[in-house]
Amino acid sequence: MNELINFDANASYGLLDEVRDELFEILGKYLNPSSVHQGGQKAKNLIEDARDEVRLLIGASPRERVIFTSGATESNNMALFGVFENTSKRHLVTSMIEHPAILEPSRKLEESGVRVSYVHPDQEGRICSSSIKSFFSEQTKLVSIMFANNETGILNPVHQIAKDCKQENILFHTDAVQALGKVEIKFSESSIDMMSLSAHKIGGLAGVGALVLREGVYISPLIHGGPQETFQRAGTENVIGILSFGIAARKIREKLNYRIQRMNALGEALREKIALHIPGIIQFDSQPKLTNTISLRIPGVRADDLIVALDLQGLLVSAGSACASGKPSPSHALTACGLTESEAKETLRISLRAETKYEELLRGVKILADTVSSFNTMKKPLPVLEIEVPA
Ligand code: PLP
Repeated sequence: MNELINFDANASYGLLDEVRDELFEILGKYLNPSSVHQGGQKAKNLIEDARDEVRLLIGASPRERVIFTSGATESNNMALFGVFENTSKRHLVTSMIEHPAILEPSRKLEESGVRVSYVHPDQEGRICSSSIKSFFSEQTKLVSIMFANNETGILNPVHQIAKDCKQENILFHTDAVQALGKVEIKFSESSIDMMSLSAHKIGGLAGVGALVLREGVYISPLIHGGPQETFQRAGTENVIGILSFGIAARKIREKLNYRIQRMNALGEALREKIALHIPGIIQFDSQPKLTNTISLRIPGVRADDLIVALDLQGLLVSAGSACASGKPSPSHALTACGLTESEAKETLRISLRAETKYEELLRGVKILADTVSSFNTMKKPLPVLEIEVPA
């Protein structure tokens, strides 16, 4: 049987081979980084190296703090709750297309009396900086807008939004989970105050992430206990997870331009093949966006049914975000972007890895074309699609 084809990289990139090999060498060798003996101190040093690697990947200076967490969900919670714990200002501006890891803490903040404005995207699925500004008030303490949307790949103008916030003395946080490793990020050159990251979206292990804090930005910790992570996040560090993040960050940085070019080329090839062979509509595809991400609607075919059929053939794709796809309800982000509920339910998300081989891409398109065709022949026959797949 052929290997599974991961067209669902935005859900989990899959451990990079090089990360697995390096981790294998160090697995089980290191002890509690808080211990003063050599077993602990070696682990501590490796964690600091990983912190430097994360900084380098996002263009942050050593003055900026990288706080390791259990993943971007925790980082987002830390940013939102950490800001509002210590302020008399009670207004948060975010958007309707954020991941649940922002929307749910926002709802919790609302319960505690914070006013939250949820900004609508425009027709292309993008959050406009002018819309954000129109919500600013004396009470606005924080704006949180995602760098790139996980379902459409649309990039938001976070640098402009961050500048606008800075002018008004408002903190700006961005969930940059999907942008990491897919676009160049220059944290120090931007006005972004806080940035959430996740290791498993760039080829590290799941269960580890980071919150990056600009120099001078202080927020309350979410988890209280020991002095780890400069008192910002208590608890013995997930050493192996953090090291996987550091190695993945290094591997990606070393070939970032090549990887971006490869994702562009693969994305272009896939768009061409889809246009030729799949009776569907590619939507939310305006630039600037993550070229690895395609939102594809196949009218008359439910994405949930299609995903199961594709899975049986070894092709992994998703409908809506992975965290939400256990629920039958349509994606909140797609409906916020203007799709009807039934259109949202017909939408597949395809997201490629830079490592995807061209042969895999063609095999994936063939599986998709044949499966959609078999769904459609239940209604009306379609011509047989001929795609040459190299051996
Ligand atoms: N934010 C975005 C945009 C995501 O896509 C995801 C995961 O899908 C998360 C946050 C959650 O990240 P983690 O799995 O590290 O908690």
